[in-house]
Amino acid sequence: MGKIIDGKQVSADVKARIATEAAQLKEKGIEVGLAVVIVGEDPASKVYVRNKKLACEAVGFNSYEYALPEQTTEAQLLELVDNLNNDPKVNGILVQLPLPKHLNDKVIIDNISADKDVDAFHPVNVGKIMIGSYSFLPCTPAGVMELIHSIGVDVKGKECVVIGRSNIVGKPMAMLLLHESGTVTICHSKTEDLKAACKRADILVAAVGKAKMITSDYIKEGAVVIDVGMNRDENNKLCGDVDFEDCKDKAGYITPVPGGVGPMTIAMLMQNTLTAAKQQNGLL
Ligand code: NDP
Repeated sequence: MGKIIDGKQVSADVKARIATEAAQLKEKGIEVGLAVVIVGEDPASKVYVRNKKLACEAVGFNSYEYALPEQTTEAQLLELVDNLNNDPKVNGILVQLPLPKHLNDKVIIDNISADKDVDAFHPVNVGKIMIGSYSFLPCTPAGVMELIHSIGVDVKGKECVVIGRSNIVGKPMAMLLLHESGTVTICHSKTEDLKAACKRADILVAAVGKAKMITSDYIKEGAVVIDVGMNRDENNKLCGDVDFEDCKDKAGYITPVPGGVGPMTIAMLMQNTLTAAKQQNGLL
């Protein structure tokens, strides 16, 4: 059986390191603050926001939550973002997506100060990721890289296949693998022979959003299989894009869902918030 990569443990290790650094900053009189903005009543978003607040508490950051009603206008949301941009207590700003349909994600993100954009979604930060010179990590892909590093696998020269080309996961994921000299293939819904591409992968990252679509016939014996997907199965149980039971014996390493990539994303958000606080206090 392949080894299971324990995202909860790796995330706890990262957060412990961040907590130590946050305590050291506090001794210098610097408190780290993250503002989380949520608009509307989306139940999944509420869970994410709560988890981010808990993570802030766990590492010793201040968290400021702004829960706005569904009917909030673009002007009202932009006014709040502007206030947060100018608030020295706030080092990082996160606007939970998706926003209600009448609000344009892009307009809101573009108005978050790039220095406080701890999700790394602002075009300036996206561009920096592209050229490999960035301070804010793309949270989910960076979490995947931490998991790969935790098992001591060197990406250099490896066949890496990323399934999915979204701006928040697939594309930055491919960039981070490329920055570490992987030979990267990006697959998507128009890929003609997905199975053949996946079978070449030494490192396979699935970020599709389709429950258990990757079965053992998609993977190479001994491959590192990282499952970003967060879906519900036929019994409404949380599951990934990878059929874990079917793949776990063939994979060399595999992440479970839950308990794999999910906990890493929040850890990387905490890392970015710490970085923002250091930058804004002239420590980086
Ligand atoms: P998107 O829906 O934005 O992107 C999905 C990608 O999968 C698209 O590029 C799409 O291709 C591709 N795709 C869809 N169907 C197929 C198919 N049959 N074969 C090959 N490729 C396909 O999703 P996200 O990137 O935002 O998220 C992906 C998954 O990761 C979701 O389950 C999401 O919940 C999860 N997620 C988990 C996070 C975590 O912290 N663990 C964080 C963020 C996301 P095309 O572009 O051609 O349409």
